[in-house]
Amino acid sequence: MTYNKKTIEDIDVAGRKVLVRCDFNVPLKDGVITSDKRIVGALPTIKYLLDKGAAVILCSHMGKPKGERNMKYTLAPVAARLTELLGQKVELAPDTIGPETKKMAAALKGGQALLLENTRFDKREEANDPEFAKELASMAEIFVNDAFGAAHRAHASTAGVAMYGGLPAVCGYLIQKEISVMGKALEDPARPFVAILGGAKVSDKIGVISNLLEKVDTLIIGGGMAYTFFRAMGNDVGTSICEYDKLDLARDMLAKAKERKVNLLLPVDNYIGREYKEDTIYMRIYSDSIPDGWMGLDIAEKTQELYAKSIAGAGTVVWNGPMGVSEWPHFAGGTEAVAKAVAESGAVSIVGGGDSVAAVEKLGYADRMTHVSTGGGASLEFLEGKDLPGISCLQDK
Ligand code: AMP
Repeated sequence: MTYNKKTIEDIDVAGRKVLVRCDFNVPLKDGVITSDKRIVGALPTIKYLLDKGAAVILCSHMGKPKGERNMKYTLAPVAARLTELLGQKVELAPDTIGPETKKMAAALKGGQALLLENTRFDKREEANDPEFAKELASMAEIFVNDAFGAAHRAHASTAGVAMYGGLPAVCGYLIQKEISVMGKALEDPARPFVAILGGAKVSDKIGVISNLLEKVDTLIIGGGMAYTFFRAMGNDVGTSICEYDKLDLARDMLAKAKERKVNLLLPVDNYIGREYKEDTIYMRIYSDSIPDGWMGLDIAEKTQELYAKSIAGAGTVVWNGPMGVSEWPHFAGGTEAVAKAVAESGAVSIVGGGDSVAAVEKLGYADRMTHVSTGGGASLEFLEGKDLPGISCLQDK
């Protein structure tokens, strides 16, 4: 899917009321924000609008309050953090579209910002209810979507305001970067184009594997999903995570790779453990066959070298998913080796997915990547070639 959408720079926002959908779904512990990365990520768009004299009405979901007003998921900590980061007061409205909130929005002046309360406190948000979307839209004159992490969902605040609210709709800087960098990589990549896929299951990424097999020169597989491929090839997998009901699919993918002459790399050596436990006894095996009573938990050094060599020669690298159980130090080596190889490759590099992004950040490589995607589910759907409703609803250039 290629998008060429209007951005905040393509529309006159001065003195206008602008509704901005952000992704403020930040991690919280006992009501305290543990990472403000998503808030910081939204600042360029918000600051641009404020500087241009727009009255900025911010909205976002947080967590899964399931349509109930559950104050565990209030955006109050986000309003406080935004106030600090912007150096100006960001008031929190009492709800998303109630009368008091509408009054606050109506009174908002150019250069001021207001944050609406969690959109998911109302069940009509996730139902993409047209009336709810219209009410939300009625507070503003322009809609800006900058919530890439929620763009794969057609909810009232991500797509409904543009679909039913009739507002001119454009993207913010975050979405613009996601669609331009990922879109280019998928449609017109610098070659060789190497994709690295890991994580627990083949079933979660089958759409991505299938779509990427039509585009890449090399597909590198690691993580738990490698063992479903192993089994499909007739190898022993011991007690490794393996989707026995997906063996035919894995065989189809192997056949597709062959037919399209894609160089498909699978682990040649592995770290294996006795149990699925952080402190399990473990050892390295110099083979792609896992003995009885053992499970594959990470790729070992020979595989790491093989993958690193392929990554080093790449023009474009897209990486999603860890190479092993990277949450556990004994099985993080494969993911870290791949992170290093991608950072050092000099290729156009795009990293997505919680565990791969965490590895890149932990090792201090984030700045060396062309793009670290801000949305897990959304970036996977983008790589699958699916249309993202929160983006397709925006105006074309
Ligand atoms: P995903 O969300 O699909 O990217 O998968 C991430 C999860 O895959 C992480 O929690 C990893 O611990 C898990 N994972 C990676 N490799 C393995 C493996 N060999 N066995 C079991 N789980 C794994």
